[in-house]
Amino acid sequence: MKVDYGLFGRRVNAPAALARVKDRVIPPAECPKCRSTVDLVNHAEIYGKEYGWPLLYLCCGCGARVGTHPGTDIPLGTLADERTIKARRETHELLDGLWRSNPDRLRSRVYAALNQLMGSQIHIGWLDFEGCQRVMTYCRTGQISRLISQSA
Ligand SMILES: [Zn+2]
Repeated sequence: MKVDYGLFGRRVNAPAALARVKDRVIPPAECPKCRSTVDLVNHAEIYGKEYGWPLLYLCCGCGARVGTHPGTDIPLGTLADERTIKARRETHELLDGLWRSNPDRLRSRVYAALNQLMGSQIHIGWLDFEGCQRVMTYCRTGQISRLISQSA
């Protein structure tokens, strides 16, 4: 890993930024789906302008992509196609809704219940499309809420 370098006028992988990232994913060298090269780009290439931290891994074949932790070139998760990106966003919103709507409920308890249902530690950025569907089902059917109530 390159430490503390400049790219697109940004300082990348400064020690303080690296220290904030707990779960480090190795940057994708090639796309698992189409085997094309993956480039580290500025997301303004896709979105037209920068929103926050702009470094993004982009497959030059199929357009699968994944963002990076602020201040670093460490991926937030695995490369995702359009429908997976959308599913991850929806999954995040549903999970957030489970604790934001309830002042007594902590975010950490929502995730603990989810991890229990999924049988392992979950990061939304690492889920594929099917994984997202499964988590959303747990949210919508109230399984996560029931588990939290039971352990309260
Ligand atoms: Zn690809």
